[in-house]
Amino acid sequence: MTDRIECSAVIFDFDGTLADSMPFLEGIGVDIMMKYFGVSEDDARQRYQSTTGLPYEQQIKMNFPNNPRNEEAIDKFESLKIDRIFEQELFPDTVDTLKKLDEMGIDIYVSSSTFQSTIKEYFDRRNLTHYFEEILGYRPGFEKGADHFNYVASKHNQPMKYTIFVGDSLKDYERSQGFCHFIGIVGMFSANEFRKRGHKGYLVDSLKQIPPLLQPKNT
Ligand SMILES: [Mg+2]
Repeated sequence: MTDRIECSAVIFDFDGTLADSMPFLEGIGVDIMMKYFGVSEDDARQRYQSTTGLPYEQQIKMNFPNNPRNEEAIDKFESLKIDRIFEQELFPDTVDTLKKLDEMGIDIYVSSSTFQSTIKEYFDRRNLTHYFEEILGYRPGFEKGADHFNYVASKHNQPMKYTIFVGDSLKDYERSQGFCHFIGIVGMFSANEFRKRGHKGYLVDSLKQIPPLLQPKNT
């Protein structure tokens, strides 16, 4: 018998959590680091992965502080991303999981480092927007993590102690700390890496494993 988490809302990361977009994003992200900053593929991949979960803008600025090519590289990434992000598929169990949580009476949100208009359009095109209370994307000063969680807490009166953030990166776990529960999706990072970072809660291989871990809480 597992200990189910009392929960009235689930907040999902987008890239690599709901959408199988990480191979595409990592591909263009690594390619741009190699082309604009002259680093090797291994070096670029390590730099990309160690900062993944952050907006690309921040990934670049952390890896190449004050480099004159930063703005150009960031613009290039965003234009390549918008060209093909809508072709990236959801994971096979994403829609069933959203449906299940909805039936359980759990409120569903997205908190992402991708621009809000992009994610909104992504779900609009698939007629899935109705599953979400609100879709929160990135703009400078309003990021995945503290900004989005505080917004959900105050705007939607959502108690953080009954909230779960679901994400696929170590940064996602870090950003949930001090706010809400976290469930990690193992894939890009191993269970061991999440544990080493300090995550003691649930880890799953796929979204469909999440609903049975939850006990709906009426708030
Ligand atoms: Mg992600």
